[in-house]
Amino acid sequence: MAKKRDFYEVLGVDRGASADEIKKAYRKLAIKFHPDKNPDDPSAEDKFKEAAEAYSILSDESKRQRYDQYGHAGVSGAGGGGAGGFSGGFSMDDIFSQFGDIFGDSSPFGDIFGRGGGGGGRRMKKGSDLRIKLKLNLEEIANGVEKKIKVKRHVTCNTCGGNGAKNGTSLTNCGSCNGTGQVRKVVSTMLGQMVSTSTCPTCNGDGKIISERCDSCAGEGRLLQDDLITLNIPGGVAEGMQLSMSSKGNVPPRGGIAGDLLIVIEEEEDSQLKRDGNNVVFDMHLSFIDATLGTSTEIPTIDGKARITIDAGTQAGKILRLKGKGIKDINGYGKGDQLVHINVWTPQQLTSDERQTLESLRHSPNFQPKPGKNEKGFFDKMKDFFH
Ligand SMILES: [Zn+2]
Ligand SMILES: [Zn+2]
Repeated sequence: MAKKRDFYEVLGVDRGASADEIKKAYRKLAIKFHPDKNPDDPSAEDKFKEAAEAYSILSDESKRQRYDQYGHAGVSGAGGGGAGGFSGGFSMDDIFSQFGDIFGDSSPFGDIFGRGGGGGGRRMKKGSDLRIKLKLNLEEIANGVEKKIKVKRHVTCNTCGGNGAKNGTSLTNCGSCNGTGQVRKVVSTMLGQMVSTSTCPTCNGDGKIISERCDSCAGEGRLLQDDLITLNIPGGVAEGMQLSMSSKGNVPPRGGIAGDLLIVIEEEEDSQLKRDGNNVVFDMHLSFIDATLGTSTEIPTIDGKARITIDAGTQAGKILRLKGKGIKDINGYGKGDQLVHINVWTPQQLTSDERQTLESLRHSPNFQPKPGKNEKGFFDKMKDFFH
């Protein structure tokens, strides 16, 4: 993914721009780059989306504050920054459903922003979001993974094309509300007569009624089905993170756009490697003989086993660093490392022969602790690794 442009630059406003200036700037760009107005310019849609994304952040006071303070990192969703399949999270439908209002009724596009609703300029219905949990092991988290999962979701009925009428025949205007979807009622209250407007019970606010229902979906316009969905999970996700895939949630009854599929990440604990940010930590236990004489040994890593050399005279508490053997950064800033934390195992049971051998060495000068400059204490080691 190309480097993201500054949102203020995208909208062509300065950093101190008022909410009104931002709105005006966005409106101008949206009109200029609307894909329907630029059928011969394939880059128009990208620019249109870019402007919408910038507007979504800068028009929201708290998001704008976070953006001013932290830049793109402060406002990007979990999937931001090159997460395949979660391209910044903006689809055309999102833009229409979220920002259609900005153009009001005097929209220069006529009903572009109310498209497909079927009733005079009514907003398009959006279906409900679906939330699933996805358990990933450390290897999948470290490198990213493609997962195919089955999701039970409401999809558009193919027989009627989603309108719920037999063979997709057209619908008739609801007589109770004259197609407006709303009914007015005069209610007598203590304060006098009041007019209340409510959703038409005959058509449920659709403004249209079905004379003969579709056989496949019983007039609902949608069917509950197992849908096989391919998820491209980027490397570096973490427990509790939520990725969203637009339009993979439920389609609403009788037409509209699908909600989103929200994927909540769960980390499966690894029996040997512990995660620490983008690093993985392996706690290694060496016999004090191996630590003294040095050895070569295999340790687990995210990508399988790796052989490492332990130098003679290795002290307990030493931390070895295997560069780039950690977890991919979610924002694309390289990879973490694997840290191997050395513990030296002190025997707890000895045969009398073993005890005798060790006793004979007890007073040998080489066995007396002589911590030098190289033997840093615990706090110095922590400082080295975290600062
Ligand atoms: Zn149907
Ligand atoms: Zn009605």
